[in-house]
Amino acid sequence: MLVPLNLPSERSDMKISLALLSVPLLVGIWACRDADGAQAPGQVPADPDSFVFADSVRILADLKTLSHDSLEGRRTGTRGGVLAQAFIKAGFEEAGLTAPPAGFLQPFEFSDRRDTTQVTQGANVVGFVEGAEPSLGAIVLTAHFDHLGVRPPRPGTPAEAAGDSIFNGADDNASGIVAVMSLARYFVQHPPRHTIVFAAVDAEEMGLRGAYAFVEGGWPELMAVNVNLDMVSRSDSLLFIAGTHHYPDLRPLMEGVTPRPPVVLRFGHDQRGIEGMQDWTGSSDHRAFHAQGIPFLYFGVEDHPDYHRASDEFEAVDPSFFLNAVRTILVAVKTLDERLDSPLSPIP
Ligand SMILES: [Zn+2]
Repeated sequence: MLVPLNLPSERSDMKISLALLSVPLLVGIWACRDADGAQAPGQVPADPDSFVFADSVRILADLKTLSHDSLEGRRTGTRGGVLAQAFIKAGFEEAGLTAPPAGFLQPFEFSDRRDTTQVTQGANVVGFVEGAEPSLGAIVLTAHFDHLGVRPPRPGTPAEAAGDSIFNGADDNASGIVAVMSLARYFVQHPPRHTIVFAAVDAEEMGLRGAYAFVEGGWPELMAVNVNLDMVSRSDSLLFIAGTHHYPDLRPLMEGVTPRPPVVLRFGHDQRGIEGMQDWTGSSDHRAFHAQGIPFLYFGVEDHPDYHRASDEFEAVDPSFFLNAVRTILVAVKTLDERLDSPLSPIP
């Protein structure tokens, strides 16, 4: 999320443990085992529950890596940002994504709005799976990988009071990137009807610069819909879908997505004037697509006490919520791929 918000903090430490996996996911894995209880080598389950269970150790390991102190908060233009690009590129290659003609990295630069002599180099990491029916256009999955870097600690959280100056951004937005990388592993093995573009974008925290660079760079096919992930790994229960207020044709499709506990899906955060519910239409990378009239769905959680604090760390993530959020987002993208047949238009 882009908009800084300082909230008083009381971080609840929750240790990552596979024992916290929810029962539905545990049940799912048995469905893809044969009579001997063994899973065929190299097989990627088609069923989303089974797939996410099989991928869960990797998902959590990737989240831990991307939010590690050695990546120094992944600020755009820093060593940590470049390390994050390399990690995501390796993940895309390993998944078997196809690179665009210019390669997986899409470099861009931008100048500071107040001091135009200050130029920052960023790079998006982009790969795709070609669809069986390319005339349907592309589903563009986005998440930003940059975060706030290293900055002086401020009082307000125990971590920063103790001198922690690395803003790891585990939820914001290593979580969205890791979900994108997992879905890449799924869709390479289970080819979609639409082309699916996997775009890990840079410089969101500096004004959605990577998302604008991607949209302005264009894509050879129609961009049918953007699915943006930004903060999807921790919540008491609610995972929001924003965007259907602007693109109501998407709502019945998403109403068919049934989440597993503890995830509860809620529509909202996409219009002004709703008491107690901020309008998130402009608050993350989907804004760059919406500005071009490209329909979007944004998945994210409410701001929490560790939002934009040094305490947004791996240990504060809720693995059960996160894995079930990844599973829910996979089901949502599969639903779009299966049911979206013609271009959508915004409300007049
Ligand atoms: Zn974010």
